[in-house]
Amino acid sequence: MVSISGMPVIRGVFLLLACALAGCSTLHGGTARPPIEVVTTLRQADVRVRSVFDRLARANVGHCAAVRPEIGLILFTPGQYDAGYRDALRTLYGTTARLGVEAVLPGSPAASAGLRSGDAITAIDGAPIPEESGVALLDAATEQMEQAAADGKATLTVRDADGERSAMIVPRRTCDAYIDLKVDDDRDAGTDGKTIQLTTGLLNMVPSDDQLAAVIAHEFAHIVLRHPERMESADVGTGLFAGIGKNGAIVRRTEREADELSVFLMANAGFDPHAAAAFWRGPGRKLGGFLSDGTHAGADERAELLDSMVPRLSGQDDEFWEKLIASRDRPLR
Ligand SMILES: [Zn+2]
Repeated sequence: MVSISGMPVIRGVFLLLACALAGCSTLHGGTARPPIEVVTTLRQADVRVRSVFDRLARANVGHCAAVRPEIGLILFTPGQYDAGYRDALRTLYGTTARLGVEAVLPGSPAASAGLRSGDAITAIDGAPIPEESGVALLDAATEQMEQAAADGKATLTVRDADGERSAMIVPRRTCDAYIDLKVDDDRDAGTDGKTIQLTTGLLNMVPSDDQLAAVIAHEFAHIVLRHPERMESADVGTGLFAGIGKNGAIVRRTEREADELSVFLMANAGFDPHAAAAFWRGPGRKLGGFLSDGTHAGADERAELLDSMVPRLSGQDDEFWEKLIASRDRPLR
């Protein structure tokens, strides 16, 4: 596991069940709000996070170890939500179908194909949607769509109030990585090498999309550099004693490399590369709890390193970036 503050990533841990129990203070500032507002706020947050990540991942597709098709759909299933949210889901999406479209990323293949928020998805390339429920259904449906799209197009059977229709989607290529937003007041982000997980607590403290891109690009850099996989091969732990000895040296190196590469990934996607240092001089300063484990540099040190990367983007320094990315094929030691 690789993360800003040592949070292990648990794929697909969702969301509103915990949110309902905890009163959703992250989403609505500590006071109970109507479910419809909670669901609407979560949708906006999902779109924000997915849009920034999608831009990073597609712009850097040539630098990734593996690629996949991307169609720009954010899926939902009522099983993700506490029963108290059912009416809100029906009001907002007009459906309580097993699998529905939470949102369509603007300008995406799904948008071009006419998919809309609230569409129920009933079949993929003529095959029924997976049997799973809850988050497992979202994962299985995503996989089924990617397999369908592997030949350059996927046909979704969708249903809305007007009836059933077919939508033919021509996917785009993106890096083989994903992002999950987790409803949690803890301010954290991490990756298991495939999926980035970001908490709403962290999202809410990031003022601009450029700074959000900085946070996501750091985790994405760990994926591009295959850090989690290489750390596992090197038997590097990220637990309580991660900062100690040879183990600690490797962890610190991967953190430094992820910071370095994050600036390159941001710039390639048209984000302001100065926003990375600005994050650590601004809101990032408040991130506590991770300095003492010795694996992550302090906020000032990180800001300085990030700033020092910006001049390397000029085009004179391509070799620096090529070498950094090529290092992913070597064992960590
Ligand atoms: Zn990291």
